[in-house]
Amino acid sequence: MGAAEKQTLGFQTEAKQLLHLMIHSLYSNKEIFLRELISNASDAADKLRFLALGDGALYEGDPDLKITVEVDTEHKTITITDNGIGMSHDEVIENLGTIAKSGTAQFLKTLTGDQKKDSQLIGQFGVGFYSAFIVSDRVEVFTRKAGTPAEQGVHWESTGEADFSVENLERAERGTSVVLHLKADEQGFADVYRLRGIVKKYADHISLPVMMLKQQFGEDAATKPTEYEAVNSAKALWTRPRGEVSDAEYQEFYKHVSHDFSEPLEWSHNKVEGKLEYTSLLYLPKRAPFDLWNRDGARGLKLYVQRIFIMDDAEQFLPLYLRFIKGVVDSNDISLNVSREILQQDPTVESMKSALTKRALDMLDKLKKKEPEKYQEFWNEFGNVLKEGPSEDHANKDKIAKLLLFATTHTAVATQNQSLDDYVSRMKEGQKNLYYIAGDSYNTVSHSPHLEVFRKKGIEVLLLSDRVDEWLVSHMGDFDGKPLQDITKGELDLGTLDTPEEKEQQKVEDEQAKPFLDRLKAALGERVSEVRPTHRLTDSPACLAVGEYDMGNQMRRIMEAAGQKVPESKPIFEINVAHPLARKLDQEADEARFVDLAIILFDQACLAEGRQLDNPAAYIGTLNRLLLDLSR
Ligand code: ADP
Repeated sequence: MGAAEKQTLGFQTEAKQLLHLMIHSLYSNKEIFLRELISNASDAADKLRFLALGDGALYEGDPDLKITVEVDTEHKTITITDNGIGMSHDEVIENLGTIAKSGTAQFLKTLTGDQKKDSQLIGQFGVGFYSAFIVSDRVEVFTRKAGTPAEQGVHWESTGEADFSVENLERAERGTSVVLHLKADEQGFADVYRLRGIVKKYADHISLPVMMLKQQFGEDAATKPTEYEAVNSAKALWTRPRGEVSDAEYQEFYKHVSHDFSEPLEWSHNKVEGKLEYTSLLYLPKRAPFDLWNRDGARGLKLYVQRIFIMDDAEQFLPLYLRFIKGVVDSNDISLNVSREILQQDPTVESMKSALTKRALDMLDKLKKKEPEKYQEFWNEFGNVLKEGPSEDHANKDKIAKLLLFATTHTAVATQNQSLDDYVSRMKEGQKNLYYIAGDSYNTVSHSPHLEVFRKKGIEVLLLSDRVDEWLVSHMGDFDGKPLQDITKGELDLGTLDTPEEKEQQKVEDEQAKPFLDRLKAALGERVSEVRPTHRLTDSPACLAVGEYDMGNQMRRIMEAAGQKVPESKPIFEINVAHPLARKLDQEADEARFVDLAIILFDQACLAEGRQLDNPAAYIGTLNRLLLDLSR
């Protein structure tokens, strides 16, 4: 070991390049040096903790691992000290003079010279110890490896340019001190209060206490003995085993991460090991935030890497339709210097996103099964957001479909509280489709004449009245292999739900009605694309249907309201030929009166559909004329 002499050594070429680049491209986020150095200190403690498992003597009688951050306001230095593993003379040269990461040279070649782009790349690479030079023009390291004698302490020093010096220097304390001599224009960091804030931000959930000088006040403050206190809580809640964390603690932590005053509805805490390693703690809030519908609103998880805080609102870990989920994800695979831009491209993040999405959907599924009342509460707040799911996340379409709740003719209440599984369990023998009707309001759809035959036959129909609904079902297509069928679209075919006798009778009626239908078509002219007999009505004389491949009514109205051009499509006028009014109309000999009555029936069908009349004044005029006739 005869390295007592002071040596001056050159940095490895890559290290030199990286140092240079870092100093010049990370100027926009300078404070990260603290995160990096605290992270290294924490790692050093983790390493010692691990080795001490096999050799307790490494603790040298001092097993209380901690980090201390000190500020010398007079000399403008910051010192970060840990009592972790420390470094030997050779390790110092190896660790602080070279970059051991494989592929460094290649990485450096990818840099463009464009500082903004490069700063992102460097973030991806991980800046580590060298970040000290972002704010310092000289850095000293004093260290001694745990379990070695005091004479084997090491002093390293560099200005972060071409070279560094290294020498042996007696050091009683185990572990490492990094002394930052702040650059002239970075001396604002030599401020205990400011530093406290930064340390707290980046170290609140690392498992080691980070000690800083206690703030002392009063006249005799100067004469008080110096006292240190931990500025972080020194325990990362999510790192504790589930069984050891109380509900109250989970709830408290939720308030901390979400800035929400109310308790969460549910949470899911999981540790994943294997190819990817991370811990997630996902929360389901009780109330929707005010900016839930604001596309630019803050959303996402708090991201930690190895228990070090990286960023708030990391939105890359969950899809948009789960934007109401709050919580923490702590990864062991992501670089500490990851930026939002890098997160977007990182395949690790992509895998985590799909796993976390499943996790969140499972949490909802469990809640739905175990605590339906709570689930209903969730649905009332966030159901409309979840309905964006099938279109955004095709892969999980079936999982999401099972979480949806609807109003249906079965319950006859406006509350959306029936799942598609509930519906399927009540399907009629021989029923192949899931039937639905969509419209502007629960009132319109629940009173639609289209429901008449379904009511008569006891076939359930989903009543959709949220703006997203028609769009939702168009993306779902089917559920459980059964097509979702809009009851206002195309010709109604109930399949085997109609008996052969019924079908035969319908055929005969339709045949007989032909001349009447032709007469109606002539009377309505351009208003309709077709006039045909229907068997979906029992009480109403007529209704409107949409062509099989035409856009649904609700979607059409939404698009029109948004000022979008929609292809024109005329409705199909369906008439219940067995209805007394239809019969009476069929016998009307006066052609002018026949036309009046036909238009009235058509307009009424429009109104029942929740449509606007093309010419309301004409409708009123005709109706009043007929009323006058009546009273004559
Ligand atoms: P990284 O931490 O990504 O490996 P760094 O440049 O931050 O890269 O550090 C290089 C190496 O220096 C670390 O891997 C570690 O072995 C050593 N090191 C840095 N800081 C400390 C410390 N406080 N105590 C012990 N070893 C350290």
